[in-house]
Amino acid sequence: MYEMFQHAIYLSGSFVLQEAWPSELGVVYMVSHIYAERRQAWSRTQYRVLFDKESRGYLCECGLYTHMGMLCCHAIRVMINLGVKEIPRVHILNRWMKNACKNLPEHLMIYKAGNYAPKDATYRHSHLYSKALEIVKMGDKNTEAYGAAMKHLLDAIDVLKDTNQESDGLGLQDQTAAELSGSAMPITPGRTGLASSMNVISRKRD
Ligand SMILES: [Zn+2]
Repeated sequence: MYEMFQHAIYLSGSFVLQEAWPSELGVVYMVSHIYAERRQAWSRTQYRVLFDKESRGYLCECGLYTHMGMLCCHAIRVMINLGVKEIPRVHILNRWMKNACKNLPEHLMIYKAGNYAPKDATYRHSHLYSKALEIVKMGDKNTEAYGAAMKHLLDAIDVLKDTNQESDGLGLQDQTAAELSGSAMPITPGRTGLASSMNVISRKRD
């Protein structure tokens, strides 16, 4: 976790805070990649980060926090620019603390004492996501590594087209869809509140 956070701080150096505007929920910041024009056409170079005035948290539309509960380099860029010296309390999740196992919520108690639960959505999704990020990091080192990473990713997509036809309903996407109630808390990882509130914000800005 500490290494991932360090890496996110390093990556934040490639972004600049471009503009900001107020919204009903707080302030929206736009961060852009410094070499946006040199990046591949498919690579995204701009992200909106919402500072939620109620929770005092920073949530980016890239979705890293929603999926992994970890601050992304875009949110960190905003925090550095604003001179924020401490990670806001709302972003310090029990799962990252030393005593995480003691504080596990009831639905995650199966992880205690080394229990292995590959079918659980949280475990499955987080594990896939962290491995995917590892591939991106490794494949971005040089042209050869990029070629190898892309080849294996495309192979994986081909295989998965066949094997992912049936859903067991435990995937994060399925669970989020089932959970959608319209009263999502925007700052809670695993919920989709931000995307909808961002849309409202961008409409208001026009
Ligand atoms: Zn982000």
